[in-house]
Amino acid sequence: MILLRKILTCFTLLIVLTIASVASAKSVELTAVNAFDLDKETLRIEISYDGGKLYADDVTTELKNGILRVELDNTLPGRVSRLSGTQIQSGAKNFVEKILANKTQKNHTSIQIHFKSLLEGNVKFSLEPASRADKKDARLVLDVKKVAAQVEEQTLGGIDNFNKIIVLDPGHGGSDAGAIGPTGVTEKSVALAVSLKAQKLLTASGYSVIMTRTTDIDVAAPGVSDATELQARVDKAPPNADLFISVHCNAFSNSNANGVETYHAPTAVKGERLARLLNEELLRLGGLNNRGVKAARFYVMTHSKCPASLIELGFITNPREEKLLASNDYQQKLAQAITNAVNRYFNQGGIN
Ligand SMILES: [Zn+2]
Repeated sequence: MILLRKILTCFTLLIVLTIASVASAKSVELTAVNAFDLDKETLRIEISYDGGKLYADDVTTELKNGILRVELDNTLPGRVSRLSGTQIQSGAKNFVEKILANKTQKNHTSIQIHFKSLLEGNVKFSLEPASRADKKDARLVLDVKKVAAQVEEQTLGGIDNFNKIIVLDPGHGGSDAGAIGPTGVTEKSVALAVSLKAQKLLTASGYSVIMTRTTDIDVAAPGVSDATELQARVDKAPPNADLFISVHCNAFSNSNANGVETYHAPTAVKGERLARLLNEELLRLGGLNNRGVKAARFYVMTHSKCPASLIELGFITNPREEKLLASNDYQQKLAQAITNAVNRYFNQGGIN
């Protein structure tokens, strides 16, 4: 009897385990997003999926400021994320600007549909089964009324920057002061002050900002090789980081040398664009010599997995620029220039 009970217990456990493993293996995977005009008043968005079943409880929607956010639990972004950042498929091009998909947490997908006008209001959704006759996957069907909100102007901050991760790397630090100006201002302190200010501005604009350091420290450890120190900085970037910006000041034996320089890794197309935007925005501060946008094999750029740029804010060895670089106001302007460049990077054709 005891033996039988044991066997039964084992058997029950086995069934439970089997059910659990089947349930977890059945992850819903998104396959496509389509937007089209249902009729004059309504836009229809269909998010197709396979590999499992989606339930109403898994779905949250919000339509605000012309962006429809669809939060999907128990899903994998699948094919949709590989198309993210592009116009996925749209038969409603007059209304839909772009569709983005991101995996934000384990088994959670966030989809954003950006409309060209500031649509707002309630969104109706339904879950439709796969249809062999129509050759359609199972779908989450969302209907949006084409009613624009009475909003004066769309603000950029915090809306378009959803899920963007910016890594800021204040150059040098700790045992390494970097270059030192004629009155003793250190490159490491300027780089940190400007980066911390940029961190605040970027965070206020909705970005996630990761700093390689926030205090006066060696990121790896004092006395290690340059490669070890710089790799420690690169390693601060998560795999899904969007941009890496290393902040430095220039130095030269001739104290007349002056101006702004930005760098990208050779043949890095996105890095080059980032470096160019940073260069343009820094030059907007005025009175600065443009030393150009240059390709170089700096460690942090060639080893970053995301588009990267190293910027030289000015010459700390030039007395005029040393004074500027040490001033709180000017540091704030430099931080704003970095923020503007990042905004432009992600909002091509946007406000800036
Ligand atoms: Zn430096």
